[in-house]
Amino acid sequence: MSNFTRRKFLKAGIAAAVAGTSMSYGSFAIGGAKKKVVVVGGGIGGATAAKYIRMMDPSVDVTVIEANKDYYTCFMSNEVLSGERTLDSIKFGYTGLAKHGVNVVHDMVTGIDADKRVVKTAGGDSFSYDRCIVAPGIDFKWDAIEGYDAKIAENTPHAWKAGSQTATLRKQLEGMKDGGSFVMVPPTNPFRCPPGPYERVAQIAHYFQQHKPKSSIIILDPKKKFSKFGLFKAGWQRHFGYDPENPTGDGMIKWINSEAGGTVSSYDAGSKTVTAKAGKFKGDVVNIIPPQKAGKIAFSAGLTNDKGWCPINGKTFESTIHKNIHVVGDSSISSPMPKSGYAANSQAKVCAAAVVAMLQGDGAPTPSYVNTCYSIIAPGDGISVAKVYAYDESAGKIIKVKGSGGLTPSEFDPELRAREQQYAYSWFNNITSDVFK
Ligand SMILES: Cc1cc2nc3c(=O)[nH]c(=O)nc-3n(C[C@H](O)[C@H](O)[C@H](O)COP(=O)(O)OP(=O)(O)OC[C@H]3O[C@@H](n4cnc5c(N)ncnc54)[C@H](O)[C@@H]3O)c2cc1C
Repeated sequence: MSNFTRRKFLKAGIAAAVAGTSMSYGSFAIGGAKKKVVVVGGGIGGATAAKYIRMMDPSVDVTVIEANKDYYTCFMSNEVLSGERTLDSIKFGYTGLAKHGVNVVHDMVTGIDADKRVVKTAGGDSFSYDRCIVAPGIDFKWDAIEGYDAKIAENTPHAWKAGSQTATLRKQLEGMKDGGSFVMVPPTNPFRCPPGPYERVAQIAHYFQQHKPKSSIIILDPKKKFSKFGLFKAGWQRHFGYDPENPTGDGMIKWINSEAGGTVSSYDAGSKTVTAKAGKFKGDVVNIIPPQKAGKIAFSAGLTNDKGWCPINGKTFESTIHKNIHVVGDSSISSPMPKSGYAANSQAKVCAAAVVAMLQGDGAPTPSYVNTCYSIIAPGDGISVAKVYAYDESAGKIIKVKGSGGLTPSEFDPELRAREQQYAYSWFNNITSDVFK
């Protein structure tokens, strides 16, 4: 295939990535040794990158190294907390990736030697690569809240990585008495899924309303505002008696923001008491979501900056610290894109196209990217925010495309909101097929 045709093909691949559609790809590998790509982490970013490299060029040998046998999506995990769906409905395996010819290894990556181009695992294996893609998601800043660490999190779950912690939190909510209080501590920016804590509040309020209507929710927030701010506040007011004029008042939901003393300094696990500037808050169920940083392996591989995230070239997602290593998803600094699953999926497709081109000695195509985040406030009340992004060659960075995307209108239209909820479910079905099937 000529360079011209190959470039055109890659461009088409990116267009498909933005449209979120799938297309069939032909091999355009040319002679020579088989190129090897090792992907660290088989979550949304890693699994997408692996699958799309194989679809774009089946001659590339792609290995995904993933710590867990099953992947639980964080998206829709808030519905597991409210009992609207089961944990099994958000569980996915790796047979789909294997069908695309991806080698799937279940092991923990312990090191990446950027000079020798070798990935090492806890199981004692070494994997050499031409290019490595690192997508380990997030880790937590365990020193941010005194008294809250990984051990305490087993019983006071963050549930910000879906799976066993989601099940624990759901069990605690089910066991809570009517009239009990649920205390939630959202993180400081930047963090995985900016609307996530506030959707969680709505889902848990919905559960309480049906089963424990005398209960209350106290949010101790280190921020002054958050994603889809107006839409969430109006939704909480419409369904759960939240009072925007008096956010710490008598409604089921009390939101104590940074100005009202919501910033938390410590947690006493014995008495389930959270200490914030505004005072001490005892919860029957407590959910602390600590501040975040890049996944642990990104630190040991030397891919992080002083803020704890991975700087990348937004056109290729190649690390600006280590050549031949790319970082996609939550660990990467891809602002203005948010840390979301859809963003990780879109970035991974851009990265896959760049890696395929670079393995063949070509320049990476100029990409665009997309993100939509749905949140379900209550049955029949979905909201969303969407944006298209582009790569600005002259500025060398990812930018928002002016006039693209949008937000659900603030005026409540029951038909539209019910449709948004259905769009959220079809988005979930589409993205999970796109990543894992
Ligand atoms: C409650 C909640 C709701 C959300 N809702 C939405 C939503 O509606 N829409 C949306 O777009 N996003 C949503 N998100 C965000 C989304 O889940 C993340 O942004 C997305 O998962 C990021 O993808 P990733 O590939 O960077 O990380 P992950 O999907 O977390 O994948 C990382 C993978 O790497 C593996 N791993 C890590 N370290 C190693 C290692 N050393 N060796 C081997 N494997 C390793 C992990 O086991 C994991 O499987 C939500 C998040 C939460 C918490």
